[in-house]
Amino acid sequence: MHNPLLERPLSLYSNGQFIAGEGEDITVYDPSNATPITTLKAASAIQVEQAITAANKAFPAWCALGGPKRAEYLRRIAQALEQRRERLINVQMRNNGKPQFEADLDVSDAIATFNYYAEQAEQLETRQNTPFSLPDPYYQGQTRLEPVGAVGMIVPWNFPLVTSAWKIAPALAAGCTIVLKTSEYTPLAELVYADIAQEIELPQGVLNILTGAASTGIALTQSKKLAKLSFTGSNQVGSRVMQSAAERCQPVSLELGGKSAILVFKDAPVEQAVEQIVAGIFFNCGQMCSATSRLLVERSFAQQLIPALVERTRHLKVGSPFTEGVEMGPLSNLPQYQKVTRLLKQAQHDGLECLVGGEVNKSQTGWFVPPTIYDHIDRQHPFWREEIFGPVLVITYFDTEDEAIELANDSDYGLVATILSADLERAQRVANQIWAGHIWINSLQIIFPQTAWGGFKGSGIGRELGPWGLSAYLGVKHISIYDTQG
Ligand code: NAD
Repeated sequence: MHNPLLERPLSLYSNGQFIAGEGEDITVYDPSNATPITTLKAASAIQVEQAITAANKAFPAWCALGGPKRAEYLRRIAQALEQRRERLINVQMRNNGKPQFEADLDVSDAIATFNYYAEQAEQLETRQNTPFSLPDPYYQGQTRLEPVGAVGMIVPWNFPLVTSAWKIAPALAAGCTIVLKTSEYTPLAELVYADIAQEIELPQGVLNILTGAASTGIALTQSKKLAKLSFTGSNQVGSRVMQSAAERCQPVSLELGGKSAILVFKDAPVEQAVEQIVAGIFFNCGQMCSATSRLLVERSFAQQLIPALVERTRHLKVGSPFTEGVEMGPLSNLPQYQKVTRLLKQAQHDGLECLVGGEVNKSQTGWFVPPTIYDHIDRQHPFWREEIFGPVLVITYFDTEDEAIELANDSDYGLVATILSADLERAQRVANQIWAGHIWINSLQIIFPQTAWGGFKGSGIGRELGPWGLSAYLGVKHISIYDTQG
């Protein structure tokens, strides 16, 4: 399939125009054969500032347009994504190494997010100047919700279409304008939002998309003209973004990493549990902030569950997304491949008990790593504590419900958790005691745009999706009216 989305001679979209970047070269790869797809030019620091100027200039009119009119644009973005579905699937299979069914899910998720925030934009009008009474009869209070202004956004490479949709859709609905920097590893998918913005005649400057790596991101975080920064990525970079924003007391939202637990009680059906464990760690080759990379199993269930899990993992079909029936693709980029390979070597050195995987097949040209499971992990080991961001699962065991909760909470992160048990009352009780922003009970990691996304502890600041995702781009304005008529 010839896919024009894979070529981008003009790699920036700024002030309603596609323009050539004047920064460094960004070569993007097909991770299943480690060959370059194309080279794009990054935005220079001056071009970052120009995009920010455009976003600020566009802000007053976009804010004044009102929710219902903005909703029309959001719905048209959703339709335009649908029209490009096949090409978008293809671009993610090529540039991310996602199997087809995963790439397809990402397109659906992005579409659902724009449709959901179209509704939110419409409802926003009904929430304006809401009156409420105050204890003094001569006073009346009102609240308005105002967009914060032009927002800088920085996103990672693991779900390029989706992480961007989760920021762009609510920000546009709220009435904010945007300068978004894509990941240097996967800039192609998000440039489609620029194609769509031009096609639907989104007012110029409302949405600006910049290609670039860390230096472009740094320029964005150092600007004095942005009302807010919204970042998704690693804790290391998130901390730098926050430090930069702190110099100007600029608000930030941070969606960071995780080391999430999946708790399996002995009454869970074995086959279903195996599928949920496998999807929780091997979907997207484990490159998920929400990967349930710590498996906690009720000890008396181990003999039934673990052999079935190992067997399923051993037969997981790993390969190029273009091979029929593939369930897991390669890691998306070389640094991630190098990191995970180094960690597999460390596991050998540390004598971890490997049940399956653990060794990279060097004869493969792409950035493939096998789905890997280590048993009886020590709680002091880095594999228990630190995010790997690859297909690596560690297992430990519990005897009581309290111990399961204690183990699940033994983490510096608090993004998600999954609980598998036929006893719904127990599952609910456990869910209430786990420090995580999103919990699934007996479910795969299905995320609806209506539900909150984000974490406790080191997993970030703020929430995306749902009405909370909209609130992230709104400021509350209170109006007090003194009226002697009472
Ligand atoms: P990363 O932190 O390395 O990069 C994220 C983005 O920041 C990229 O666009 C990168 O170019 C940019 N960047 C790098 N250095 C910068 C700097 N100094 N200043 C400004 N921008 C800079 O993360 P990654 O490797 O792309 O993604 C993986 C991480 O993202 C994982 O830790 C994962 O858990 C996290 N993540 C979190 C969520 C969530 O919703 N919580 C979702 C997806 C990914």
